[in-house]
Amino acid sequence: MTGDRGPGKVHLVGTGPGTPDLLTVRAAKLLRNADVALYDSLVSPEILALLPETARKIHVGKRRSRHTLPQDDINHLMIELARKGARVLRLKGGDPFLFGRGGEEAEALAAAGVPFEVVPGITAAVGVAASARIPLTHRALAQSCTFVTGNLRDGTMNLDWPLLARARQTVAVYMGLMGLPVLCAKLIEHGRSPDTPAAIVQQGTTPQERIVIGSVATLPAMAEAAGLRAPTLILIGEVVALRDALSPDADGHVDTVS
Ligand code: SAH
Repeated sequence: MTGDRGPGKVHLVGTGPGTPDLLTVRAAKLLRNADVALYDSLVSPEILALLPETARKIHVGKRRSRHTLPQDDINHLMIELARKGARVLRLKGGDPFLFGRGGEEAEALAAAGVPFEVVPGITAAVGVAASARIPLTHRALAQSCTFVTGNLRDGTMNLDWPLLARARQTVAVYMGLMGLPVLCAKLIEHGRSPDTPAAIVQQGTTPQERIVIGSVATLPAMAEAAGLRAPTLILIGEVVALRDALSPDADGHVDTVS
């Protein structure tokens, strides 16, 4: 493959929630054949280790307010490298089209006329749910699951609270650790029961995974007491209570499991 130099191309690749064995086969194959990789902070060292030694590895950052490279510069760099004929991988945690700015990058590539492909990945909510044994939907408990970003803007979150506060649904919150107290207070204010089971999972699917289980009323204080740090995924809904039955070995009541 290495000698076969066609025109350059960009693959926007989702690398899943962290652990390399949750990569897709397609992503693993692309990693082994890349010339250059632009990666976010969420892409684990174990996954970067799959790149050829000769591949150029560029950290473009993107952890809360510590942007290593502005988005426009990332777009320009991808375009420039592809135009020079490189096989460029844009590696993103989880899935590129879920809270990963994959849409913006695809727009920039399309506008520049650079060929690109999107390789889906296991998004954090799906990986965390499996790892924590919390089904996202369940016939008796949750008919839908909503993925939202809990990023704080000016100390608050601009979300559709009446929708999220409805019972019989699961809410998966990305980037919600800082805003957890606001999130829970708003849900209660809009009618979600304070007793609704809720979980927060740090570094889900990795050996460093930590899980804190509580309720909408108790989770903010529990997460704080446990000293959790990003990346964390929050799951809210009656399905969280199923974990007890599905994890007979875990101390599944209100607790921290490291
Ligand atoms: N595109 C990614 C999300 C990027 S936003 C995806 O599809 O998963 C970054 C957020 O994803 C983090 O702040 C956190 O909320 C979540 N996240 C990513 N990996 C995670 C993990 N292993 N455990 C818990 N949350 C994770």
